[in-house]
Amino acid sequence: MSDVEIIIVGGGIAGASAAYELAIDHKVLLLEMEDQAGYHSTGRSAALFTENYGNSIIRKLAKISKSFLESPPDGFSEYPLLSKRGALFIARSDQLDVLNSELQTIQSMGGEVQKIEGDELLQYIPHLNREYAVAGIYDPHSKDIDVSGLHQGFLKEAKLRGGSILMGSRVLRLRPLADGWLVETEEEEFSCKILINAAGAWAEEIGVLAGAKKIALSPMKRTAFLFDVPEDWVVQNWPIAIDMEEKFYFKPDSGKLLGSPADETPVLPQDARPDDFDIAMGIERIQAALNFEIRHLSHKWAGLRSFVPDRTPVAGFDPVVKNFFWLAGQGGYGIKTSPALAVCCGALIREGCFPKFIEEFGLSAEMLSPKR
Ligand SMILES: Cc1cc2nc3c(=O)[nH]c(=O)nc-3n(C[C@H](O)[C@H](O)[C@H](O)COP(=O)(O)OP(=O)(O)OC[C@H]3O[C@@H](n4cnc5c(N)ncnc54)[C@H](O)[C@@H]3O)c2cc1C
Repeated sequence: MSDVEIIIVGGGIAGASAAYELAIDHKVLLLEMEDQAGYHSTGRSAALFTENYGNSIIRKLAKISKSFLESPPDGFSEYPLLSKRGALFIARSDQLDVLNSELQTIQSMGGEVQKIEGDELLQYIPHLNREYAVAGIYDPHSKDIDVSGLHQGFLKEAKLRGGSILMGSRVLRLRPLADGWLVETEEEEFSCKILINAAGAWAEEIGVLAGAKKIALSPMKRTAFLFDVPEDWVVQNWPIAIDMEEKFYFKPDSGKLLGSPADETPVLPQDARPDDFDIAMGIERIQAALNFEIRHLSHKWAGLRSFVPDRTPVAGFDPVVKNFFWLAGQGGYGIKTSPALAVCCGALIREGCFPKFIEEFGLSAEMLSPKR
């Protein structure tokens, strides 16, 4: 049986970033049930960084994460983690009230965006259907994230800092010890002082294994697909287009467009698969917004976005079960917020409070603590 200070369950972006943060001064072991890191939600995202999506806590966590994503430490990744994209939130005439209210929200938080009207929309997306879209909000600061670069950077640096990562190790049982945990996988047993639950859609199940009360985590399925565009469309510099009420989005990806019906279907934790109905819904909505008939999909997939009721990530010690730390409920924002959430996790484990610079953004440990 090996003994470490911290065991992290789950090797997605949450577990990897926590391992990176804590391996600097703790003996850390990360256990991932799959053979491939990022097999679940982390490897299935739309890879977007924007400060203008999610509740105000999410927006602040994204803002805090930006400096790390813009200039990670030397050697962290071979290529820049962020690249130019832009985001255009588009509205039909019946969505103008939603547009105006979102514009106010963004501006009240200091967001630098522009209101776009009429044919101006075509400067950003020349093939937008003008009978469909009448106005928009353009955010020039939204970026594409190199998700693999970020995730692999966290894992590689965690190992360089002395952390251990075991793939193909599913945590099956947890037994409380006088001062920590006995963690059982099929093959081995480990003991640790602190257990970090970063199991994504399975985080509630890990909580149950530890005897913790549920946090009402709900995994929601979201579908995505890649489709071909006419040869004479040059799409690579288009911004992501997001429906004002988030009923669909599409964005350039390797010369094609990545589309999604922005579905949210509650499901059990699982290896999510796309459903034909959701794909058809996405195609119908995107076709209405673009002057174009989607004929060929080159890839389709689905992933889980796991939310607690207030849609705020949970990062904190369980109030009852000792030495059990939740890092869960990142919903549709877990990639862009991972640097900040990892810092919060590290500070709570080391000092029991947030660093001053995080509090200066108006965030408190209470906001992210597990609630029932
Ligand atoms: C279609 C889609 C689009 C998205 N777009 C964006 C976006 O543009 N920007 C953004 O920031 N976020 C986006 N997200 C959200 C983001 O992908 C998630 O918030 C993030 O990946 C969650 O990371 P995680 O590490 O918590 O979960 P995961 O990546 O699912 O990792 C959890 C890991 O825990 C492991 N595990 C579970 N149980 C056990 C066990 N018993 N033992 C060992 N290991 C276990 C799993 O195998 C898994 O690898 C999107 C998500 C989807 C599905």
